[in-house]
Amino acid sequence: MAGKLYLVATPIGNLEDMTLRALRVLKEVDIIAAEDTRHTLGLLNHFEISKPLISYYKQIEATRSAELVEKLKLGKNIALVSDAGTPGISDPGEQIVKIAIEEGIEVVPIPGACAMINGLIASGMSTKEFEFIGFLSTAKKEKIEKLEEIKYDTRTLIFYEAPHKLKATLSAMLEILGDRKVVLARELTKIHEEFLRGNLSEILANLQEIKGEFVIILEGSNQSKKEVELEHFNEMTLDEQYDFYEKQGLSKKEIIKKIAKDRNVNKNEIYQYFLEK
Ligand code: SAM
Repeated sequence: MAGKLYLVATPIGNLEDMTLRALRVLKEVDIIAAEDTRHTLGLLNHFEISKPLISYYKQIEATRSAELVEKLKLGKNIALVSDAGTPGISDPGEQIVKIAIEEGIEVVPIPGACAMINGLIASGMSTKEFEFIGFLSTAKKEKIEKLEEIKYDTRTLIFYEAPHKLKATLSAMLEILGDRKVVLARELTKIHEEFLRGNLSEILANLQEIKGEFVIILEGSNQSKKEVELEHFNEMTLDEQYDFYEKQGLSKKEIIKKIAKDRNVNKNEIYQYFLEK
């Protein structure tokens, strides 16, 4: 019988966040695949667990996933852990899960700490709908493109960021997304845990050289793309709006339908207008 792949969350700073179930699974599996075996060895030693460790980090994810799935098919039970938090969330994991599913292996998540969820729930921002973006690209062009892409997203936005890039990232957010509310959830679950709250400009003005780990939780846009477009359309003539949609490659019929919908009028009226021209 094939083994199971367990995705085991580990603490993000406070060892008390190791769950009883996570400990039991780590004790029971045959192999632990770890992002950094030395780091995980420290955790296992603390809980007096001794298991064979195999490294599983980003650069070897593809080949190592195939090897581990072969072991699973032979009946070995494997736990995957990252350095901290939930595997697969801005950490290795996604690839082995895909391959394991393709091969009919059972995948079992073992819940626990996750920085973005804990940052979000204590942020005071809307938790109803949110988008987790994780790390923005280090390439400036791609970083700007991503921020442009999410500019009109009304959901709460969550990012991970390294401390030495924090200031540049917050500045880019201010420039592209405007002066929104932001929360920096710092050193979650650790002794120096704190929440810095304010607008982007205020936070940037008071930002000293801050150390530690951060989750950035940013307020969503107060206007959706559709609302901004409609506002824009209200200032346009019918012909300008027609040109706008024509440039998007829409047919005459589609354009008339869209204009009528945007302006909440009968499409025959719009049709008549363009017929008379
Ligand atoms: N898989 C992890 C999880 O479930 O949260 C995230 C791993 S990712 C490589 C590391 C990033 O998560 C850090 O750069 C930081 O943005 C965030 N992070 C991790 N631990 C944190 C903590 N204790 N407090 C605040 N942010 C943390």
